[in-house]
Amino acid sequence: MSNNPREPRHLDAVVIGAGFGGMYALHRLRDDLGMDVRAFEAGDGVGGTWYWNRYPGARCDAESILYSYSFDQDLQDSWTWSERYAAQPELLAYAEHVADRFDLRRSIDFGTRVSAAHYDEERKLWRVSTGTGTEVLARYLVTALGFLSASQSPDIDGLADFGGEVHHTGHWPHEGVDLDGKRVAVIGTGSSGIQAIPEIARQAAHLTVFQRTPHFSVPARNRPLTEEEVARVRADYPALRAEAGENAAGLIVAAAPGNAADLSPEERAAELQRRWEAGGLGFLSSFEDFLMDEDANATAAEFVRERIQETVRDARTAELLTPADYPIGTKRICLDTGYYETYNRDDVSLVSIREHPIERVTPTGVRVNGVDHEVDVIVLATGFDAFTGPYTRMDLRGRGGRPISQAWEEGPRSYLGVAVAGFPNMFTITGPGSPSALTNVLASIEQHVDWITDHIGYLEESGMVAEAEEAAQDAWVDHVGEIASYTLYPKAGSWYMGANVPGKPRVFLPYAGGLPLYREQCDKVAAEGYTGFAHTPRECGPAHDPVRKNPNSSY
Ligand code: NAP
Repeated sequence: MSNNPREPRHLDAVVIGAGFGGMYALHRLRDDLGMDVRAFEAGDGVGGTWYWNRYPGARCDAESILYSYSFDQDLQDSWTWSERYAAQPELLAYAEHVADRFDLRRSIDFGTRVSAAHYDEERKLWRVSTGTGTEVLARYLVTALGFLSASQSPDIDGLADFGGEVHHTGHWPHEGVDLDGKRVAVIGTGSSGIQAIPEIARQAAHLTVFQRTPHFSVPARNRPLTEEEVARVRADYPALRAEAGENAAGLIVAAAPGNAADLSPEERAAELQRRWEAGGLGFLSSFEDFLMDEDANATAAEFVRERIQETVRDARTAELLTPADYPIGTKRICLDTGYYETYNRDDVSLVSIREHPIERVTPTGVRVNGVDHEVDVIVLATGFDAFTGPYTRMDLRGRGGRPISQAWEEGPRSYLGVAVAGFPNMFTITGPGSPSALTNVLASIEQHVDWITDHIGYLEESGMVAEAEEAAQDAWVDHVGEIASYTLYPKAGSWYMGANVPGKPRVFLPYAGGLPLYREQCDKVAAEGYTGFAHTPRECGPAHDPVRKNPNSSY
């Protein structure tokens, strides 16, 4: 440690965020590598997404038994999921259980948002500043920001002057919102809106849904897990995890019987019906070419359109709810519990804002096409500035003081979704260009954190600093784009494409090659001595602190 009393504290690593990514990174770096690590978390508790997204109906859409850590058998054995898809309170309780079990909280500063992280090129250290006035220096910056954490609110005239309450689903008040007897507006019908709408309809006096684009939704078929199922899963956990590890999305789903064209029309219909009844994300695996071939996709889209038409009684409402102009699955597929049925209630109305966008919010309601819809509460289910938002909203600067917003001006550039050229010793968990959003994110997080931990271990042993090379990064960005171009994803204006944020470059953000292929490439890079990274000597200057190997130090 420097003798300069004004010198900020030195750490080995800073982790930003204490969601599932940050918690695991903290555990691995602190407890396995023995590093002096501090995590900074804006919230007052662990859990990330599940700390913030407390809206009614919030639950995971990957099955609970897989939407959980696999790295520790005792941890697996210590937790019992109650439902096929756990609801937010149970997911948050799980995060807290993990934090307790691994004594993580002592290394986390809660209520502390990182405001700036600048790379000091001369000292080869990251200088990290927080909103609470803390400043630290660290050799490594591990960003566990979450790719859906920067909420996006619409720029609607008059919203700030609305006389009632306005809540974004991604920042739902912890004390809950009393909707009893209230007239409620929900703006947005993506996954958050589709989960919240049936629950809000049950509570509110009247619900008005403002829909810009109808999204495809398939039934979740959520249900309690039986004791026998839990026992079976517990006995088979390693095998189940291994099976999920072979799947592109890190899930266990029945394999597709082939391409759609290999099946007769009756076989196609039967396959879709089977998966519709089973519920869940397995619907996307009805055909091998579901997300690659327009005809295959159109068959599945038509199947869902028919289910909407036969569920929703009012013909005009059914028509408005029926997606028509993008392939199914290219905007993130939603899982629901009674979503379409909700529109059969007398106290729920649907207003399309496609042709006539919201004109303005008045002090008492929402005006569309000259009609005032009077409401007491407005719920913004309008999504997130995905992947890049959490980075560009922070003052993050790499070599030469270059802001990340500049480096990513034309869309994010990263190597393997885990590192960025010009930002040495910064590792991004589920960053842009990683499979993350197209997978069971817990599986992606574990792969990323394990890979990053190995790489940092290597750097610590060799005394090197790592930086992604421009050429390797360019090749990865091209690869991500090329794989996406083989799919139907670019055909929708989705958050995968950055299309939901005005002015954001249209670039396909996640890696669509699947987890196994991704893992293989990461492993190869590591096995060959971290190809694509420039490793330069750390050079111990006077300000450098050697690794202290003191997991218990609290700065
Ligand atoms: P989203 O999918 O981006 O949906 C946002 C909705 O708001 C869309 O219907 C969008 O319409 C609408 N919208 C956005 N800006 C608007 C504006 N200015 N005026 C009117 N409407 C506007 O966001 P989300 O529902 O929060 O979901 C984001 C992602 O989070 C999901 O795709 C999923 O990956 C994850 N998530 C998962 C779960 C789960 O099941 N576990 C639950 C919630 C969220 P357009 O479609 O026309 O843009």
